Amino acid sequence: MSMNDTIKTAEEHLLHTYNRYPIVFDHGNGVRLYDDNGKEYLDFCAGIAVYAIGYGNKRYEAALKSQIEKICHTSNYYYSKPLAEAAKALTEAAKLPKVFFTNSGAEAVEGAIKAARKYAYLKDKKTDHEIIAMQHSFHGRTFGALSVTGNDHYREPFEPMIGNVKFADFNDLDSVRALVNDRTCAIIMETVQGEGGIFPADKEFITGVRKLCDDNDILLILDEIQCGMGRCGSMYAFMQYGVQPDILTTAKAVGCGIPVGAFLLNEKTASSSLVPGDHGTTYGGNPLACAAVAEVFRIFEEDGIIDNVNKVAPYLKKRLEETVASHDCLIAERGLGLMRGIVFDTDKKKPADVVSAALSKGLVLITAGPDVIRFLPPLIISEADVDEMIDKLNASLAE
Ligand SMILES: *Cc1c(COP(=O)(O)O)cnc(C)c1O
Repeated sequence: MSMNDTIKTAEEHLLHTYNRYPIVFDHGNGVRLYDDNGKEYLDFCAGIAVYAIGYGNKRYEAALKSQIEKICHTSNYYYSKPLAEAAKALTEAAKLPKVFFTNSGAEAVEGAIKAARKYAYLKDKKTDHEIIAMQHSFHGRTFGALSVTGNDHYREPFEPMIGNVKFADFNDLDSVRALVNDRTCAIIMETVQGEGGIFPADKEFITGVRKLCDDNDILLILDEIQCGMGRCGSMYAFMQYGVQPDILTTAKAVGCGIPVGAFLLNEKTASSSLVPGDHGTTYGGNPLACAAVAEVFRIFEEDGIIDNVNKVAPYLKKRLEETVASHDCLIAERGLGLMRGIVFDTDKKKPADVVSAALSKGLVLITAGPDVIRFLPPLIISEADVDEMIDKLNASLAE
């Protein structure tokens, strides 16, 4: 099938929920993608912060192949060795003792919300608990996750939401404090907001929220589905802030291409929330998914993936700052580690137009919010890759 035929067939049969770029990707290698015509692309999107270890990692592929030859699925009524290995690796990496595996980020958020409500319910047997979430946040498209997503356009057509959710302003501690009352069971936020436009939490803000939670026995849920897994320069971004969540959500890069998510709980929350019968999943934590997770953590360790983030991120930041300084249409650069964004003056140029121009020049980028292009490369990129990206970005901005 030619690229055009593939696109035509897909459009004929897929529910139209995405405006896709007219590209059919076939395979990848390292930080590069190849379309059906053999055209090469430098990838600064990584399937939206998924493919942290890059494409075509031989050990990752071998681990998956060998698991496929044994068994892909058994159900959660039984144990499997990959499940035990993945649970050990993820809990040790996140420094939180208990994990529940899901198939996606949104499901991880669903589980986190259920755990938080159950924790509060066990304390006072009431059923009117509230959650505080942040404006401009993104937590996923299922009802619970959507209910705590701070974007009216995403929520409104699907009202009513789960209810009892209030929105505070990210990085404004007073706005959070004003919403706390004796029914508040959880505060949920991304450590670095992703879809909303790449906003890292301020240290004072996240420390203040942690204290607010401690003082009122409210659970802090950190959503690190995008910013976690080494992307910001530590295994999870919260580790740089000197705070710990009660519940952590993770997904995207945890499986590096195999759909996996998880929520993790600290001892206090794990010992007083979900019990057998409260929550479940058919596929979550199956042997194939967990073989991927276990191998991803081995690769992170052996290949020094996070060391590479800390080596290359300052260079990416510097080159992006130079780019912002040399283009009228750009206002600012921000981010943490290899999760960065450049902010557009949208009267002068639209981020989406620059993304399209970049694609035609063989560079994969992605927008965030209305006025940002974000950079989420595989975590194995080099400074030479950054230079090549900047050249292509400059050319795309000049169009
Ligand atoms: C992508 C994302 C989600 C949703 O994950 P899905 O796997 O798409 O359901 C939730 N939270 C954050 C911060 C994300 O970036």
